[in-house]
Amino acid sequence: MATHLVWFRADLRIHDNLALAAACRDKKARVLALFIATPQQWQQHAMAPRQAAFLHAHLKGLQRQLADKGIPLLYEEVPDFAAQGEKVAQLCDKHDVTHLFYNYQYELNEQQRDLQLERALQDVTCQGFDDSVILPPGSVMTGNHEMYKVFTPFKNAWLRRLKEGLPECAAAPAAREGEKVTPAELDFDYPKQPFDTDLFPASEKEAIARLRQFCQQGAGEYEAQRDFPAIEGTSRLSACLALGVLSPRQCLHRLLAEQSQALEGGPGSVWLNELIWREFYRHLMTYHPDLCKYRPFIRWTDNVKWQSEDAQLKAWQYGQTGYPIVDAAMRQLNETGWMHNRLRMITASFLVKDLLIDWRAGERYFISQLIDGDLAANNGGWQWAASTGTDAAPYFRIFNPTTQGQKFDADGVFIRRWLPELATVPDKAIHDPWTWADKQGVTLDYPRPVVDHKQARVATLAAYEAARKA
Ligand code: FAD
Repeated sequence: MATHLVWFRADLRIHDNLALAAACRDKKARVLALFIATPQQWQQHAMAPRQAAFLHAHLKGLQRQLADKGIPLLYEEVPDFAAQGEKVAQLCDKHDVTHLFYNYQYELNEQQRDLQLERALQDVTCQGFDDSVILPPGSVMTGNHEMYKVFTPFKNAWLRRLKEGLPECAAAPAAREGEKVTPAELDFDYPKQPFDTDLFPASEKEAIARLRQFCQQGAGEYEAQRDFPAIEGTSRLSACLALGVLSPRQCLHRLLAEQSQALEGGPGSVWLNELIWREFYRHLMTYHPDLCKYRPFIRWTDNVKWQSEDAQLKAWQYGQTGYPIVDAAMRQLNETGWMHNRLRMITASFLVKDLLIDWRAGERYFISQLIDGDLAANNGGWQWAASTGTDAAPYFRIFNPTTQGQKFDADGVFIRRWLPELATVPDKAIHDPWTWADKQGVTLDYPRPVVDHKQARVATLAAYEAARKA
């Protein structure tokens, strides 16, 4: 009898899971599932304890759902990638596995691990699937068969390619015949920090319901609302997409079911754009694996002489820079594990272009806090903000944190939510509270700005210019 092993990694769901669906196609095969935790490696990469808790909750949910389908989940814990491969080989041996199924991961180490494993498992048929993207890397290329370096032509080519045939969603597998499966206790040795289940769906069922609700009620208004952090204007599905609790195909199909003109630039198309940005960064990482080693896309930017001001890095991390929009955003991140996209851009720009601190310090800090930490999106976002990436903001474009606050949180509703120490400051002064406080002769329990934006801007431009000429 054939034994099929499905190795779950960042695809913790039973609906539209291409590897799981393929493994269950043969009704007679015995199907086993596997998850291998690597806490030591998570530590090295600074995975956020909130993301660990999210992963744990969804892994347990997956285990229950698989058990209902008659599929036991084997659970293992090993130090790192190399050991993961060895463990899979041992399990294949132990359980007489004939076929191994998994969904591709596009990060460099993960790709190398899978290649080595495929070579090592000579008696097992290995099948990988492009499951975490709508269109696989390599399918959206320039006329010269190169990866696009600029988003808009990538997006146009992506849409053309999509219209040739929409990838279908795979159904959840039917229950298998056989003995009843009882889920065993499952936990990993890694710090976990509770997440707010009102903000982040705690089960696959809730994630699907949240997606449906957003596509019905939020996606059409997304363009008008997405830039204002005080409004619930975005989907907040990033944590689910990062760990594969939802697939991007499910997002696409649900969007088109509710917003039929989204592919033609109608309501919902701006949300679709974000899903395409997600694909862009994944495709880019596949063709430029150096990105996984935290190298800048634009090489001369490695010559920038970064400041190593630990006190300023700490002030940024703890939301104590004296710039209210930056501080409110960092506190949102620290307290919930999530930050609004507009604020990710503002805080990243502030760290790099006002404090002149290496973007990699910010990238690592984000990963250590984010419930939706995702290498491709985080690296893409940081390299965009630091002007080191492909199709990034030009280095001379420097956000002014005060005017960004005035523009996107005009009345300070968001700022007040996170900075109670500014409660007495009037609305019109909320983005520059010290100028008001000094005039009034009032003392605030809030730090003065750690840098002067105008001076910092000049210094940063000089540092980038010098690096470019070096
Ligand atoms: P929505 O606005 O509802 O968008 C829908 C989905 O599209 C998101 O859930 C996400 O999967 C994807 N998406 C949206 N914007 C982007 C983008 N710019 N790049 C790639 N994918 C996108 N996103 C992450 O998922 N993980 C990260 O670690 C991450 N780090 C970031 C770091 C910086 C400095 C910046 C500027 C952006 C980062 N982003 C990251 C992208 C974006 O900020 C988040 O995906 C978004 O804020 C998540 O909220 P949402 O689910 O409500 O998004």
